[in-house]
Amino acid sequence: MELNILTLCYLIGSVTFILGLKMLSNPATARKGNLIAAGGMIIAILGTIFLYEEGGQKLGNYPWIFGGIAIGTLIGFLAAKKVKMTAMPEMVSMFNGMGGACAALISIVEFNHLIKLAEFHPSGKGFLLIILLGLIIGSISFAGSMIAWGKLNGKVKDFSFPGQHIFNIVLLLVIVGLAAYLIGWTPANGQLIFYAIFALSLLYGVFFVFPIGGADMPVVISLLNSFTGVAAACGGFLYDNKVMLTGGILVGAAGTLLTILMCKAMNRSLANVLIGSFGGHKTAGAAGSKEQGAYKEISLSDTAVLMSYSSKVYIVPGYGLAVAQAQHACHELEKLLEAKGVEVKYAIHPVAGRMPGHMNVLLAEADVPYEKLLEMEQANDDFPATDVVLILGANDVVNPAAKTDPSSPIYGMPILDVELAKNVIVNKRSMKPGYAGIENDLFFQPKTSMLFGDAKKVLQDLIAEIKNL
Ligand code: NDP
Repeated sequence: MELNILTLCYLIGSVTFILGLKMLSNPATARKGNLIAAGGMIIAILGTIFLYEEGGQKLGNYPWIFGGIAIGTLIGFLAAKKVKMTAMPEMVSMFNGMGGACAALISIVEFNHLIKLAEFHPSGKGFLLIILLGLIIGSISFAGSMIAWGKLNGKVKDFSFPGQHIFNIVLLLVIVGLAAYLIGWTPANGQLIFYAIFALSLLYGVFFVFPIGGADMPVVISLLNSFTGVAAACGGFLYDNKVMLTGGILVGAAGTLLTILMCKAMNRSLANVLIGSFGGHKTAGAAGSKEQGAYKEISLSDTAVLMSYSSKVYIVPGYGLAVAQAQHACHELEKLLEAKGVEVKYAIHPVAGRMPGHMNVLLAEADVPYEKLLEMEQANDDFPATDVVLILGANDVVNPAAKTDPSSPIYGMPILDVELAKNVIVNKRSMKPGYAGIENDLFFQPKTSMLFGDAKKVLQDLIAEIKNL
């Protein structure tokens, strides 16, 4: 009877994950979807704790289990409460890494059980294969996510050395070779080999993410996310736990799809991202000392007049808008202009900000209607008929070097062709480069005017100017 209730709990968990994932695809339903999936997860966890039985014995160990849950919940709650919107990608990376670490720990625990049961006989080989898969993928995901976390918050710099890709490939082959040896030959020093695989997988995770940087980080983050999903699914296999399996497969599949979409958005193959060294070590050189012409500035009052008497305006949000937390002011400007008969839309680049969907989430927070957000291709078609493009804290996603300069580290990434519009106004605080660390020719083009200052302050002042017109 209890087993049936447990199966029902797992079924509810699985269904809510799928439902939650579906609802997450639209900002209007995302919050609810998240809560529904979390509710399903709680049911599955409580079901496991209280209803699971093996050999007529319940799990027990309640103080340990609830002690762990309490500590984890507290840390998670405080971290999520405290985190700034701009630091969300780091937190996602950190949480993702913890998922990978959990999967690796499960493999370590189960390997030790396996040894105790002296199950190094043929029937244990399939089990050992799954244990090793969970260990390898989970460890790579954990170590890689920690490096990604460090890179996103600026604590870890891009790093590579000549022949690193060969080194990485050899390292991976050694890991796979050792795993095959352990499964096929069941050597006496199996435990030692197991921990060697663990250490090498952690090392691989570090070296795998180290050289990737610049604009390629979103792809790596979603790839690591899919790794964690697969590693968790291995845990589901080991425990014959349906909800863990479903959850892992969903995360793995969603992460893989997102990785493919991100690659498409940047017009790069996955192999190219992983071994193409799009990263900082080249970037630093490219950022170099290239001479730029003069740029021109525009005043707030001129901007106010220009925008108020336009018929069509596009706003291009970028990472700086999130830094300034200017989404509400931005929405207010949009409403004010619309009240004056100006058509206002947003052009959303797929990798703008610091995480997939960052700008959509940011603008949804300020209740910007979803229909106003146009994807890159649609916006690019629309720019020739646009009077003013107002760029708010975006840089790399509007850098024409992606189209014109084959030596640029962002060459090949599709960008928002804002220079097709009649006027381009760029708001940022200085002439400093964006995430990829490179100069932007757009700022020096005749159609472009710079409007310096913090995005929130500038938008508030601009709103006041327009109201005074
Ligand atoms: P960028 O990082 O290229 O540029 C952001 C700009 O915002 C900076 O040039 C900065 O200039 C300006 N800025 C910062 N703070 C403020 C402020 N308070 N007010 C006004 N401006 C401000 O951002 P984009 O969105 O254009 O591009 C995203 C980049 O991040 C891409 O290279 C992408 O590949 C990468 N990335 C994206 C991820 C994703 O999943 N979306 C994940 C990881 C990386 P200044 O300092 O002069 O103000």
